[in-house]
Amino acid sequence: MSIIWAWQESVAEYVAAGQQVVAPVPECPGCRRRLARWSGYWRWVRYPVDQRRIWIRRTRCRRCRSSHALLPDFLFFRRLDVVATIGQVLALRATVDVELRALARRFDLPRATLRGWWARFRARSPTLLAAVVEVGVGLDSAPLDLRQKGEAVVFEALEQACQRAHRRFGEQPIGELWRFWSRISGGKVLTTNTSAP
Ligand SMILES: [Zn+2]
Repeated sequence: MSIIWAWQESVAEYVAAGQQVVAPVPECPGCRRRLARWSGYWRWVRYPVDQRRIWIRRTRCRRCRSSHALLPDFLFFRRLDVVATIGQVLALRATVDVELRALARRFDLPRATLRGWWARFRARSPTLLAAVVEVGVGLDSAPLDLRQKGEAVVFEALEQACQRAHRRFGEQPIGELWRFWSRISGGKVLTTNTSAP
């Protein structure tokens, strides 16, 4: 299982930190005890103009006998590309109807990869919308003002929820829209899991 945490710097700075990267040690999602540090693993990340290996810290709960990867919030669970790339591609497809073929060229990515994101996103969009609306209403009890149709409404809701988070917590702790999405979804925007995050 993965836990998403807020990395305040750029992806390049995370890459540069290597195995020295310092992640906060969270509570165990199962029993709420403080987790113990426990090694880590290398994985790849692809971001505009580069693809590099990064170190992902792991923690372990002795009571639950479970381990948890601590994923920085510029990633989604089990996706190579950074959330900013995935988010922009999905938003452009959903809100201004740009063809995946054109997006693949613009972002210099395999078309099959984009097709996979889009199919998963479409299948999950009702769940994703419900989760984003819940966060938005949790931050400010007024209903969101949603006017878009189809999948575009997910991004409309996401922007409004993110604005509410900014109003409540200020600019710095929230960061950019796509990282916010990763944090509130637990990195599970494009997982096969169909239950609400
Ligand atoms: Zn535990």
